Amino acid sequence: MKISIIGIGAVGAAVATAVAGTGLAHEMVLFDRDGLRARAAAEDLGHAAAFSYDIKISAANNYRAMRGSDIVIIAAGANQKPGETRTDLLQKNVAVVSDIIPRVMANVDAKRVKLIIVTNPLDVMVMLAQKLSKLPASRVIGTGTMLDTARLRTILGRTLGVSTRAVHAYVLGEHGDSSVVAWAAASVGGLPLDEFCRQTKNPITAAARQTIEYRVHNAAYEIIRGRGATWDGIGAAVADLLRSIVNDERRILTVSTVDGAGREKLAMSLPRIVGADGVVASLHPKLSSGEATNLRKSGKIIRANYDAI
Ligand code: NAD
Repeated sequence: MKISIIGIGAVGAAVATAVAGTGLAHEMVLFDRDGLRARAAAEDLGHAAAFSYDIKISAANNYRAMRGSDIVIIAAGANQKPGETRTDLLQKNVAVVSDIIPRVMANVDAKRVKLIIVTNPLDVMVMLAQKLSKLPASRVIGTGTMLDTARLRTILGRTLGVSTRAVHAYVLGEHGDSSVVAWAAASVGGLPLDEFCRQTKNPITAAARQTIEYRVHNAAYEIIRGRGATWDGIGAAVADLLRSIVNDERRILTVSTVDGAGREKLAMSLPRIVGADGVVASLHPKLSSGEATNLRKSGKIIRANYDAI
């Protein structure tokens, strides 16, 4: 399995570390327009690999080194500065992704390569990458709300006093401020959330739900304020997505991929089955009418941002 990563900043470096830690790749190529940064990361990671899995890690100074890649991960581009939204990055990162995709496609096998998109604003970048690459939508996969979903499951698990793994709850829509918590579809230990709360006598009030949503929506802003950027969570999310693809695990992940065509074309996050062929099916959880309305609004925001580029 050969994996190339483009953009070796805070996120790309964390992704490279997490990917190396899966033991699934035999070769990893790191590319950044700052060649010194990519070379330093490849060197450092190569030393780290001596303590774990055998993997050939190199820094590339051109796209030819990506030939033969099974998966190309795109984490290049501007990140949010404190107070900036993901949408504020739109025009800058349209330029970055528009520069990268044709160069990647000139060097990979379009019949089998898969692109994983991490750059924000995520959903618009997925639409742009799919359009420019002309790959089937199932093979252009954005990490979407995987991280938001992880944040929700973590907070809910802590609130309910159960393992995060027992919580099945999703954040849908835009990977951004309009994302929607699908409370109506949430379950814990096989019980609908409300029933779990009733049986454990641990109600989650409407006010508590609002607080949880606020924390999910603001997690990135808080982390950026304290650390300058977010990287560990997204690194782990990409590694998880990669495992599901490479091992054909068919996990259900809230990834973003393009559905529809023409004016109906839209990438947003839904629970989707992810396996060796990429996204193999999409699911539509039962939502409350308010959640369904908010999800439609979220889709309209993504589409308006796409139309603005
Ligand atoms: P960073 O500034 O630390 O790194 C960005 C890197 O991209 C830099 O090393 C830069 O040299 C490189 N780069 C820029 N243009 C390039 C080009 N045309 N070709 C090759 N390399 C190029 O930023 P970061 O914190 O690593 O964030 C990267 C992106 O990931 C941002 O858009 C950020 O918003 C996004 N992000 C997404 C998620 C998610 O859940 N999807 C989470 C965190 C961050």
